[in-house]
Amino acid sequence: MVMPDTETRTINQYCSVCKDHFDMEVVKQGSGKGVVWLKCPGCQGFLPYMQVEAEEAAQAGKGDQDTPEIALEDLDVENAKEYSEDLTYEIGEILHHRSWNDYGKVVSKDHLPGNRNTIWVQFLRQGKIQLLEGVK
Ligand SMILES: [Zn+2]
Repeated sequence: MVMPDTETRTINQYCSVCKDHFDMEVVKQGSGKGVVWLKCPGCQGFLPYMQVEAEEAAQAGKGDQDTPEIALEDLDVENAKEYSEDLTYEIGEILHHRSWNDYGKVVSKDHLPGNRNTIWVQFLRQGKIQLLEGVK
């Protein structure tokens, strides 16, 4: 009786429990399309294989280089406009959000259903956030 070749497939991945990289055994998963589980030899725990998500994120990030992180020195905070949803803004304008005490730069404009106008603002601390403008 010859057993079928069951060469174990392993993937090297970081385990956040063990805080180390291991060659982890791929655990076959009957259901759950696209999800591959790995077994950590260190803690015997199971964790999802992350490479697919990482690759997709990297590819999604490639086309997104037009909105880089901004620094405080890039912003003319002396002339920042106070954000208020009843005002309108232009791309490139610097605004200050009073509630968050955060400065940001208007990077694009957008529309929401219901004929509402919005601006996308890259804030120093909050990141990129969509805000309403021109609310009557
Ligand atoms: Zn582990």
